[in-house]
Amino acid sequence: MAELSFKVIVIGPAAVGKSSLIRRFVDDKFTLAYKFTIGVDFSTKIIEYRSEKKARVTIWDIGGQDRFKILRRNFYEGTHGALVVFDLSRAQTFSKMKEWISDMNQLLEEKVPLVILGNKIDLIPEIGEVIDKEEPKLFADKIDSTYIETSAKSGDNVQEAFVELTKKIVKNTFNE
Ligand code: GDP
Ligand code: MG
Repeated sequence: MAELSFKVIVIGPAAVGKSSLIRRFVDDKFTLAYKFTIGVDFSTKIIEYRSEKKARVTIWDIGGQDRFKILRRNFYEGTHGALVVFDLSRAQTFSKMKEWISDMNQLLEEKVPLVILGNKIDLIPEIGEVIDKEEPKLFADKIDSTYIETSAKSGDNVQEAFVELTKKIVKNTFNE
């Protein structure tokens, strides 16, 4: 059978770690230097979502500053699924992240599978919990999504997050 091929997008407020999660996943690298994403970036990776089952996934990264721009339409068009990211060390990014989901649902004709990521879990031992863990879990359940806590810095759960989204897409869109 031909290899599956699809598009995923990574969305959420500025500086939550979208580009870092992609970099960790694609190149297994991380840097603390903040490099603003300008416009849109792409990368491709083959994901083995089950043993011997592979999908070619193109990952689109958006600059946070583009939330209100026309560019968004091309960005969202044809996407098969989304990773929606907030920052566990900044509470306001959780509510902002919900706005990103509403925006996306307005632009897309059909709903696509989502995985919600609470990123920067590595900071929590230092600063203490900022967001009650139950909240993102309940929210994810409500919208039929999955909630995963990640760290682009340590790599915790990053692979798992992309695999989980891939599995959802394969199930929902390709009926496999
Ligand atoms: P984006 O605007 O959502 O693409 O965010 P970036 O990936 O550019 O990351 C913003 C800042 O957060 C950068 O300084 C990153 O080094 C830092 N960062 C990203 N992910 C993590 C993480 O998991 N843990 C920590 N401690 N810092 C992170
Ligand atoms: Mg970025």
